[in-house]
Amino acid sequence: MNYDIIVIGAGPAGYNCAIKFAKQGKKVAVIEKNSLGGTCLNCGCIPTKFLWQAAKTKQKISKSLEYGIKANIENITFADIIAKKNRLVENLVKGVERLLKTSNVEIIKGEAGFKDKNTITVKNSDGEIELQADKIVIATGSDCKAIPNTEFDHQKYISSTDALNMTELPKSMLVIGGGAIGIELSSIFSAFGVNVTLREICPQLLPSEDTELATELAKVMARQGIKVEVACTEPLKDADKFDKILIAAGRKAVTDILKIENINLGLDKKNFIETKNYSTNIDNIFAIGDASGKGFLAYTAEQDAENLVFGTQSSNPVPKVVFSFPPAASVKAVDFDNYKNIVYTKTNYSSNARAQIEGERTGWIKVAFDKDSGKILGVWILGANADEMINTASVMIKAGMKASDIKREMFFHPGLSEILFETINNL
Ligand SMILES: Cc1cc2nc3c(=O)[nH]c(=O)nc-3n(C[C@H](O)[C@H](O)[C@H](O)COP(=O)(O)OP(=O)(O)OC[C@H]3O[C@@H](n4cnc5c(N)ncnc54)[C@H](O)[C@@H]3O)c2cc1C
Repeated sequence: MNYDIIVIGAGPAGYNCAIKFAKQGKKVAVIEKNSLGGTCLNCGCIPTKFLWQAAKTKQKISKSLEYGIKANIENITFADIIAKKNRLVENLVKGVERLLKTSNVEIIKGEAGFKDKNTITVKNSDGEIELQADKIVIATGSDCKAIPNTEFDHQKYISSTDALNMTELPKSMLVIGGGAIGIELSSIFSAFGVNVTLREICPQLLPSEDTELATELAKVMARQGIKVEVACTEPLKDADKFDKILIAAGRKAVTDILKIENINLGLDKKNFIETKNYSTNIDNIFAIGDASGKGFLAYTAEQDAENLVFGTQSSNPVPKVVFSFPPAASVKAVDFDNYKNIVYTKTNYSSNARAQIEGERTGWIKVAFDKDSGKILGVWILGANADEMINTASVMIKAGMKASDIKREMFFHPGLSEILFETINNL
């Protein structure tokens, strides 16, 4: 079979890329070895946020007396929660399938490998077929990475994917890795009553994040009952004390199954595909999303797809969110480091009326401005709805807005986003 474009991998990078090319009238096939939707839909963004919401619902019920409502949690069967999560994922996978089909993208199930720079072999239970295309886009994503001297046995030593499919809660869990995934899973399992220890090798959680935000987040997690240890050089020192050891220490490339030795595709030091503006060292082969070792987010993967298809480039601020209790989020101007004269303002959640109504008094918002122009350069939020509010902040930064622009705006009252408004107005 001959196509204009073959996309390998149907995660957010691959399926968005395939749909966009097909909408331009190209003959497109997408090859997927597992379930459509990739990591994001099956074992990443969606399952984690479902479990976070389930844990939040439990917390809300426990606090119902604050609203004069007597309610008790009679029973939590974790298997039921996982079954509900699976049903949601199945529905969303069907949604991706419908989208691909209505966009005239051919879906081919199986494991893809290169025979030559225009020929892909696809292996599945029916055997092996060969497909040809002018252009090939690699969107094969990434996978969970173990730490040195360990491997996932999927029983005691588990990955994030294993953790999202456990039907029984362990009594204790050691989480190795204080990045977004480790923090989210620690927060979720602790909220369901698991005794969680979180260990990070670097001196702070979220190593590349603002230290004040990371330090405050560690304190909030400790108050929730999570034992947080940073600068921990021996994360497995007392491994036998724990029922489960969840390793969330980053992601690894999955290029080994692509038979790239047949085409001499260039890789970087970590075995991700080396790219410049999505181009590889082979003229008709491109790589986007996690496969290119950049971004590691569903929305950056989707933006890669957009840029590749339309030949655009973007240097947007990237909002980042961690689903702890409460969530933490941040966004910085892409040229933040070029500013030398930066001033900050900060406001606590506790005095905001809506925060009091919602029983969400924990946290603060911090804003960075260029002192000379008043331009908004960065926003850090630890507090309820940080995950949504950060998008507003991101748009302000992208638009180059100054504090004086926001002062003329109106923000709905009573709202949590008034905290952002007030923090900016405090300049
Ligand atoms: C626990 C967890 C939580 C996360 N939470 C968030 C979040 O809240 N927000 C966010 O933006 N990001 C989140 N991420 C990251 C996000 O899931 C990824 O960045 C995103 O899925 C990357 O998209 P992708 O299309 O590049 O790769 P993937 O989604 O990994 O998709 C790649 C696809 O390629 C397929 N494939 C690989 N090799 C082959 C082959 N040889 N042949 C055929 N098919 C192949 C795979 O089966 C897979 O389906 C999370 C990740 C994890 C692990």
